[in-house]
Amino acid sequence: MKNLKNMSAWGMNLKSPAIIAGPCSVESPAQLSAICTEMKLNNIKPDLFRAGVWKPRTRPGGFEGLGATALPWLEIVREELNVPITVEVGNTKHVEEALKAGIDVLWVGARTTVNPFSVQEIAEALRGVDIPVLVKNPMSPDLGLWVGAFERFNAVGIDRLAGIHRGFTDQHDKTYRNKPNWSIPIHLKREIPGIEVINDPSHITGKRDMILEVSQRALNFGLDGLMIETHHDPDNAWSDAAQQVTPTRLAEILKQLEFRETLWNENLDDQLSKFRVEVDQLDHQLMEILAERFKVIDKIGAHKRDQGLAVFQPDRWTSVMESRTKEGVAKNLSEKFMKELLFAIHEESVKRQEKQIKTQSTTNSLKV
Ligand code: PEP
Ligand code: MN
Repeated sequence: MKNLKNMSAWGMNLKSPAIIAGPCSVESPAQLSAICTEMKLNNIKPDLFRAGVWKPRTRPGGFEGLGATALPWLEIVREELNVPITVEVGNTKHVEEALKAGIDVLWVGARTTVNPFSVQEIAEALRGVDIPVLVKNPMSPDLGLWVGAFERFNAVGIDRLAGIHRGFTDQHDKTYRNKPNWSIPIHLKREIPGIEVINDPSHITGKRDMILEVSQRALNFGLDGLMIETHHDPDNAWSDAAQQVTPTRLAEILKQLEFRETLWNENLDDQLSKFRVEVDQLDHQLMEILAERFKVIDKIGAHKRDQGLAVFQPDRWTSVMESRTKEGVAKNLSEKFMKELLFAIHEESVKRQEKQIKTQSTTNSLKV
């Protein structure tokens, strides 16, 4: 695969982080004018203006966007704000119409990224076209599918690409509309060096009073920009009413966010360097201890094999979980972290013991 270039997605010299703002859906020329007017009043000039004209609804019957009719209205935005415009495309017809209308940047939604057939079709429609494409993460936290979409676009010659982290479906979660999983965009950045990832706190939270908090987290995790749905009258928006903010509120959010600098190794101050040395040493000790622990686990595995015992011993597992969690919590480690850590260690222990059992099975009868 051709290396994706570390360039701003829409080919402009962006100040970091990039700000993408605009309504969930285009509703009318008057709506676009009102949004632009309020943006100007608040001195907001987004790096990119977003607006959906084809809306992928999970179930039919909702507002599905005004379609190609609404594309020429976006000229209003260009006149008022003089910024590039992005719309979502979900099939080849959308691509043709968006290109005909002179749209500057395309974005692919989460419900499209999930389907390699759709992504491939869109990519084919863009062969030979020089346009930036933003790719939202798929609905489920499947890094391979996300990377695959970038590869498909890259293979047809699109090299101005960026990701959008918009969270993942989680039926059990009550806090978010789409739960963020910060490790996925971080892994994406590792898989595709130089790729920029924008955060979409609007679709992550589903509610406007959480936008600031999630935007700050995204910046803390080193993401490169924010896509925030912005509408002059959010309560009466035709789609995603609960999560949109007014341009006035957007200005407040941007003012309150802390944009911290990324530290490059050559600029580290002395104190931070010392702390890092300390952490490096502690991590080294941690690895030594883990390696020791697993050596003992291997011995336990061999012993269980010889005694015909099952790998998983529920009573022991419960008592290990409880006692270690308690000990960790007493040492100021969170319960959630302790549980996740112990689960990870336990899973690895079971795997290693299974390996022992498979290597030289001396008995067939298991005493559970
Ligand atoms: C949107 O950005 O309006 C949208 C439909 O987003 P997603 O694909 O993240 O659901
Ligand atoms: Mn939306």
